[in-house]
Formats: sequence, structure tokens, C-alpha cells
Amino acid sequence: MKPAPFSYHRATSVDDAVAALTQGAGMARILAGGQSLVPMLNLRLAPLDTVIDISRVDSLRQAHDDADSVRYGALVTHAAFEDRRVPDGSNGLMPFVAGQIAYRAVRNRGTIGGSLALADPAADWLTTLVALEGKLLIAGPEGRRAVAAADFVIGSYLTDLAENEMIEAVVVPRRSATERWGHYKVARKTGEYAESMAIALVDKARNYARLVVGATDGAPLVLEQAAQAFLDGRTDDALRVVIRDELLAAGREFSAARLTMHTTVAMRGLKGAAAK
Ligand SMILES: Cc1cc2nc3c(=O)[nH]c(=O)nc-3n(C[C@H](O)[C@H](O)[C@H](O)COP(=O)(O)OP(=O)(O)OC[C@H]3O[C@@H](n4cnc5c(N)ncnc54)[C@H](O)[C@@H]3O)c2cc1C
Repeated sequence: MKPAPFSYHRATSVDDAVAALTQGAGMARILAGGQSLVPMLNLRLAPLDTVIDISRVDSLRQAHDDADSVRYGALVTHAAFEDRRVPDGSNGLMPFVAGQIAYRAVRNRGTIGGSLALADPAADWLTTLVALEGKLLIAGPEGRRAVAAADFVIGSYLTDLAENEMIEAVVVPRRSATERWGHYKVARKTGEYAESMAIALVDKARNYARLVVGATDGAPLVLEQAAQAFLDGRTDDALRVVIRDELLAAGREFSAARLTMHTTVAMRGLKGAAAK
């Protein structure tokens, strides 16, 4: 199928893109890497009458290394992370995750901002940013605001973004050098979206653990009780029960098979972090 007719606006700056979004009154969409939007247009799944192309806004491709955090412009591609062309403050987790997304051709064009804005619950960056306690910098007609990644996603394909706002950058706090990460992703085949994924961060020196499970048909789930149980020394079945109960308490109505899968994936995430 071919897309329905639309007007095209090449944005010259973030403010110009926001002005065009505002003028579009809910019928304008940002075009970043186009890896999801273009197929949606071709299938006529994205109702819009204006496409705002931000790909020439150079500031959105920049990454800045600050003392406590790294700031990535919304147009930093998955490939740029994978190839370590941008700074990393995550002890290698972000480059690793980027390399798991889709295929190289998609990674060459797909962007971190586009992935987060789409808010596919199975997307890799979503779970990763929640795990790393990242935040999003959002530009709108009233100025800039920041929102924690954990609060940004409201549900499947639903975010906190207003129709005249866009993601300008993502800020990831620099993780401690003693922190270790574990990552486990179940996908039907390499390069596909996750059926389940877990990221665990463990810093034994600080008695710190964080566990996040993604691809749960909604926002990623932060399992605080399970992380604490892990720190308290629970292992094997004792830990598995805590994870399972916390997943159940999230109220997502998982089938028995999906509950088992998410539980196992979370266990493997923790195990991976603990083993490093
Ligand atoms: C075959 C295939 C396999 C894939 N597999 C995976 C996978 O395993 N894991 C994974 O995580 N992803 C996967 N993806 C998705 C891929 O990561 C996309 O790159 C990503 O979802 C969208 O990024 P984009 O830059 O191409 O955004 P676009 O397609 O340009 O835009 C996507 C949506 O976000 C909006 N948007 C884009 N940028 C912004 C912004 N800065 N501010 C506000 N709104 C914005 C657009 O308006 C649109 O609604 C896959 C895609 C394909 C085609």
C-alpha cells in the first residue's frame, strides 16, 4: 500500500519542529529514523496530515559527556551506541542493548528518541532506560521539561508526550564503576522484538540491586521486592517465588506461560549480574 497524501516539513531546529507540531493540532508527527513511522504510513496505521522531518537538526545527533550523566540527543542511532561512537556511562550496557535491536540496517537509522516515543512495550530502550534511571528532556511550546523514564510510559504505545511536544534528549546517570549488569532477552529469533526481557543492576559494594522486566504489555515493571530479596541472600526457588508474586501483584493478567517466562527471565537477569 502507499501512504495517504501528507504535507512534509523539514524542521530547522527543535523550536521549529515544536511550532510545526503545534500548528498541526494533533495531525502532525515527527519523522526521525522512519523505521516504524514509514511502515505505519504505508499501512495507513498513522492518521496524520503533516510529517515533520527532524533528521537535519544537527543538535539532536550530539551526545554530551557530563560529570554525573551522559546526554544523548534524540537522533542518536542504535548503531552509534553499538559502535561506541557516543560516550557510555553504563559500564557497557547501552552498547550491548543497542546491538540486540533488530538488524544492522534498522540500527543504522533507528533512533533512541523514536524508539522511546513509539513506546512499544517490547522495545529494548524502554526497559533499559527505566533500569538505568534515565530521564527524557521534552521540548514543547511552553519550554523544556524533564520526566523520568519510569514515568514517561503510561501503557502500550502510550506516553506522557502532549501532541505538540517532542523528545529532545535522553539523560542517563553515570553508573558506579563497581556496578554490574545482567541482561536477558527472549525473542523468537535474533533481531526481533522481545517476548520478555530483564535487566538487573547489582552493586555489591553499595548493597544495591535494581531489577526491571520489560515486554510485559505495558510500562516496564520495576521489581523492588525481588531486588531486595536478592540483596537479602535469597536464591533459587525462594527468589523465584518473590519475583513471581511481585509480577502477579502488578495486575497485568499474565497467562501462566508468560508469568513463568517473565519470572525465569528475571532470574537469569539477576544471575547474569551476580556472576560478573
Ligand atoms: C524489522 C524491525 C525490527 C525491529 N526490532 C526491534 C527490536 O528488536 N527492538 C526494538 O527496541 N526495536 C525494534 N524495532 C524498532 C526500531 O528500533 C525503530 O528504530 C524505533 O522503534 C523507531 O525509531 P525511529 O527513529 O525509526 O522512529 P520513527 O519511525 O521515525 O518514529 C517512530 C514514532 O516516534 C515518533 N517520534 C520519533 N522521534 C521522536 C521524537 N524525537 N520526539 C517525539 N516523537 C518522536 C514518530 O512520530 C513516530 O510516531 C524494529 C523495527 C523494525 C523495522
